[in-house]
Amino acid sequence: MDDDQMVQLENCRLDPVCFLPGRDIRIDVLRLDLVHPVISGNKWFKLKEYLSEAISLGKKTIVSFGGAYSNHIVATAAAARQAGLESIGMIRGEEPPALSPTLVEAKNFGMELFFVSREDYRNRIIPVAVYRAHRDGDVYVINEGGYGRRGTDGAKKILDLVNAAQYEHITAAVGTGTTLAGLVEATAGAQKITGISVLKNNHSLEKEIQNLLSEKNKDRFTLLHDYHFGGYAKYSGELIESMNQWYRETGIPSDFVYTGKLFFALTDLLQKGFFQPGSRVLTIHSGGLQGNRSLPKGTLIF
Ligand SMILES: *Cc1c(COP(=O)(O)O)cnc(C)c1O
Repeated sequence: MDDDQMVQLENCRLDPVCFLPGRDIRIDVLRLDLVHPVISGNKWFKLKEYLSEAISLGKKTIVSFGGAYSNHIVATAAAARQAGLESIGMIRGEEPPALSPTLVEAKNFGMELFFVSREDYRNRIIPVAVYRAHRDGDVYVINEGGYGRRGTDGAKKILDLVNAAQYEHITAAVGTGTTLAGLVEATAGAQKITGISVLKNNHSLEKEIQNLLSEKNKDRFTLLHDYHFGGYAKYSGELIESMNQWYRETGIPSDFVYTGKLFFALTDLLQKGFFQPGSRVLTIHSGGLQGNRSLPKGTLIF
């Protein structure tokens, strides 16, 4: 599989963002959002190992799960197409009269969409057509959000893009935690890995991340649960204002589901003295900007 046909890894760069210069804290933002306009950088990394396995098992079709604005769904559609595989998206909720831009894009990448009621979705009830393909042994299933060990192995490679050893802190937004697990596995010893959970009261998250980690790394991360703004994909005027402010100060756009909450948290943590003077902090811009299309026009200044 040639990664570089679709996703431009060479577009990634580190943007140094200098805050509180008096305290000599430097934040570098790894711009995975620049790899592709709609494919979230971290999703691409997470999917790679699953797709390699699907190919080596001789599977023809990828099945995965997500909502109407899911970054994972559109990334799966794109990555499967590039790998020469068919893809099926099981979409949570009734089929809407008009598809979201995310689903239109997924369809354009050749994904076949099946809408399943929330209840069937929760119970993982699979439509007959998908079941048949599965019975015939053609289907490779990827968890919602790419959660799993292979996703972790893929996410580890994110840090190949930088000289990771120079950072005392690495921070990232967390959904399933697979990306964070990759960051933990790719670092060592005293480096502090902090995840900002974008879900409310997701108390099983810690355990789910630990299940992805090797023994020596199980306690090498911290999760912060106070920056969800009401829950997954919820937002407030304060969050939007902070995303606009971050853009004015740094020129870096963010999305309201993940990275907007991450950058809000970062600013708050800086003010609270979370990072010792002299620290170098790497923060992962995991992309997700396509999701902003669900906001009313004019909400964001970028
Ligand atoms: C999916 C996603 C995340 C969360 O990744 P996990 O590995 O599920 O924790 C973070 N940022 C963006 C932009 C995403 O699309």
